Amino acid sequence: MPGKHAMLSASGAHRWMTCTPSAVLEAQFPENTSEYAEEGTFAHALADLIINYNLHNLKKAEFYEKFEKMKENRYFSQELLEYVESFANQIFEYTNEAKLLCNDVIVLTEQRLDFSAYVPEGFGTGDVVIIADKELHIIDLKYGKGVGVVAEGNPQIRLYALGALNEYGMLYNIEQVRMTICQPRLDMVTSETLTVEELLEWAETEVKPKAKMAMAGEGEFVVGDHCRFCRAKATCRARAEYNLELAKFEFKNPELLDDDEIGEVLAKAERLSDWVKDITEYALQEALKGKKFDGWKLVEGRSNRTYVDEIKVAETLKAAGYDEAVIYEKKLYGITAMEKILGKKTFAELLKDLVIKPPGKPVLVPESDKRPEIGTVDSAVKDFG
Ligand code: SF4
Repeated sequence: MPGKHAMLSASGAHRWMTCTPSAVLEAQFPENTSEYAEEGTFAHALADLIINYNLHNLKKAEFYEKFEKMKENRYFSQELLEYVESFANQIFEYTNEAKLLCNDVIVLTEQRLDFSAYVPEGFGTGDVVIIADKELHIIDLKYGKGVGVVAEGNPQIRLYALGALNEYGMLYNIEQVRMTICQPRLDMVTSETLTVEELLEWAETEVKPKAKMAMAGEGEFVVGDHCRFCRAKATCRARAEYNLELAKFEFKNPELLDDDEIGEVLAKAERLSDWVKDITEYALQEALKGKKFDGWKLVEGRSNRTYVDEIKVAETLKAAGYDEAVIYEKKLYGITAMEKILGKKTFAELLKDLVIKPPGKPVLVPESDKRPEIGTVDSAVKDFG
């Protein structure tokens, strides 16, 4: 059985296929998990439970026993349940759609998919695979909402599809593969359909050669948005050189920058600032482990006073004659927290007329940004006070 963490993961495929030496470079850094990743894992487990209940693979009592246990998980919330249910409903719809086409639809969940025929040690888990009438439909749940992920040209879901073909291609007469990514928190569902031949051609001509280079640490370093999730991003020399090159502005003679030059600085600032943040965070973590960086030292940051024990503070003040109304401030939960508590549906039902979205503060963004342009300083000042 391949190691739990194969060097060339499906989730990192866009990165190692674009910057082939990144996989070897990354291998020397530990894999980190985050609260977001843990929440995503929990959402997948809950989705699997609900989908299997909907498919009658679980008895009611068994479902509720497991469900009650999951409700105790720290990541459980009404809001998460609603998103997961909307994904499960989507799967139910896809299954019914497939049943209209043929009688013997097969629905598999949480399937281990082996695509090692193309990527050394390559495997992953397909959330849902539906096989019906010449079509294999693979569906992936993305619980995150930070970055919208689309199915078109997505190497991760294509690799899963290759794994599913490898597993079921011989048993069923599959002619085409549909790949769908559902991202309920962004209300996004996107699909790509390829014929089996097209998918296999991509695997042979793109994946295989790039995987071979990536395993050997060969090829050119390519800097881009994919660096964001690279474990080597803070100390990668190629990224540093790219950013330092980016920072070389060739200004003309006059003492003041002109508008074109300011535009140029703005265009580069975001990428540079991300890079600086990554290096700063990396250096801090290393310093905490005991590393010394020339000219730098660890000190205590600024801190605010805090109560040692809030209950004792309240008791002391009450004993001294202060009324509760004076010592406590009553505060509503914020909108996000309230939505988490009530769930999206109830929140909308009860509070739809009591929540507004005021115009956001003006921000400068590149022209490619999808938001419509707002007016001049005068109108902005009027709108935002
Ligand atoms: S940081 Fe970017 S350029 Fe450097 S190895 Fe990672 S993906 Fe490649």
